[in-house]
Amino acid sequence: MIRMGIQKSGRLTDKTLSLLKKCGIELNWSKNKLLGQAQGFPLELLMVRDDDIPKLVESGVCDLGIIGENVLSEATTNKEPLCLKLRQLGYGKCRLSFAAPKDFNWQGPSSLQDLRVATSYPNIVKKFLTQYNLSAKIVEISGSVELAPALNIADVVCDIVSTGSTLQANGLKETKEIMQSQSIVIQNPNLDDHDKKKNIDRLLRRIDGVLKAQNNKYVMMNAPRAALQTIKEILPGMEEPSVMPLDEGSDKIAIHAVCQEDLFWETMEKLKEAGASSVLVVPIEKVI
Ligand code: ATP
Ligand code: ZN
Repeated sequence: MIRMGIQKSGRLTDKTLSLLKKCGIELNWSKNKLLGQAQGFPLELLMVRDDDIPKLVESGVCDLGIIGENVLSEATTNKEPLCLKLRQLGYGKCRLSFAAPKDFNWQGPSSLQDLRVATSYPNIVKKFLTQYNLSAKIVEISGSVELAPALNIADVVCDIVSTGSTLQANGLKETKEIMQSQSIVIQNPNLDDHDKKKNIDRLLRRIDGVLKAQNNKYVMMNAPRAALQTIKEILPGMEEPSVMPLDEGSDKIAIHAVCQEDLFWETMEKLKEAGASSVLVVPIEKVI
């Protein structure tokens, strides 16, 4: 049985549970329970605050954890990484940035010298200041950091930003991004149990399958046989497309292929120009 620490309630919770569900792993226990056995996989889930997960994984209480890269980075104070980073999961994307009042004359990191910086990420800010050989007073605040300048608790802030609308609403402007973050799977660095490792590999294969499927679409169309080569060049398929003849005697074929979603509209237009008709695009649930 593998034990995984996930965020009990917060921005990562629903997406994490939904990812696990797509991996065939379901939970059905009451929300108040902190430790529960998953169905469909030898996995136990520990629901905790995200900040506690790095320590739980480092110490081996949990074998795995899912957190934001920002949380791992904040917990890593020594040179040695405290947990292994196994996968980036693509959700919970945000950045950690400095922000200052709108009229602040920001001239680069040196502007931080001798200021008061409010943040929930004192270790990351300390590392940044050391790197730039600066000294500033770190004011640690656990929430609503963006209020600090207005309350005169700090001159600038260093906080999580996703769209920037919270900063703007509080009269602040983003001045310097210091890290980008998304959710990741972390592992205990000293794990040596053979069966657990095998199950972690199985889980990662399923996660990879879900992530890969999310980025791909299944495309089907009819086209004149003569257009096949052009269509193959247009389709950014994972493999050779499948090609099937339509009615006997017809010069038309059906083409099926897997294609990357981010090329989707552009690709559709080119396919039509190449003579394709009845182009269907459907989501893929799993890939293995
Ligand atoms: P906890 O109670 O577990 O300590 P928290 O308040 O520290 O929760 P959340 O606000 O739930 O944390 O955010 C969890 C993670 O989601 C953050 O560590 C970060 O990686 C990511 N995150 C934070 N803000 C955003 C955002 N606006 N958009 C996307 N992801 C975000
Ligand atoms: Zn937290």
